[in-house]
Amino acid sequence: MYKGSCCCGEIRFELTAKPSMLGTCHCTRCRKSGTSTMFFVKKSDLKWISGENLLQVYKAVSPYKYDRYFCKTCGTSFGEVLGDLDSFPISANLMDDDIDMKNEFHEFVSEKPSWLVIGDDGKQFHNHPEF
Ligand SMILES: [Zn+2]
Ligand SMILES: [Zn+2]
Repeated sequence: MYKGSCCCGEIRFELTAKPSMLGTCHCTRCRKSGTSTMFFVKKSDLKWISGENLLQVYKAVSPYKYDRYFCKTCGTSFGEVLGDLDSFPISANLMDDDIDMKNEFHEFVSEKPSWLVIGDDGKQFHNHPEF
């Protein structure tokens, strides 16, 4: 069990299983919305404890396909947590418990600012990853 929460603590959840993957997106949208490094989780493994009603949605605009959710009170970014998908990425920064996993990839490295230096050996992709 891994606990997660937003900055103000109103929204709390837990993961009942270890995420399947950890990856980082360097695209402009992910950086601005505050969800760059993400754990990929199954919807059935995410249990809300409190504050789910405080999640506000920022709808995706084409060509982006994922909506973004954030805490109405403190602005903490969650990722795609309330979508219809069976599995989705959530912001790694939400986790209160440490999850012993390594970052596996970097996508949209083409949009990475020069001041951000990649310090792990995760596979790098110019745009979307190809596995
Ligand atoms: Zn909050
Ligand atoms: Zn992105």
